[in-house]
Amino acid sequence: MRLLRKCDCTYTINQSIKMCEKCKTYFRSAYPPKFSLHDKYATYRRKMKEIAREGEEL
Ligand SMILES: [Zn+2]
Repeated sequence: MRLLRKCDCTYTINQSIKMCEKCKTYFRSAYPPKFSLHDKYATYRRKMKEIAREGEEL
């Protein structure tokens, strides 16, 4: 399954890239938000946890 993600300047399907080198923005889902603001932040927090965990493995 291909997940399109975007930063402030471009799009990517590469799930291994966390942050854009150009605009220094974290890639996020390029799809329109379907959730409430509360859920959106919960997803974001979970994502940040994932990123932190991945960072420890590097
Ligand atoms: Zn960018």
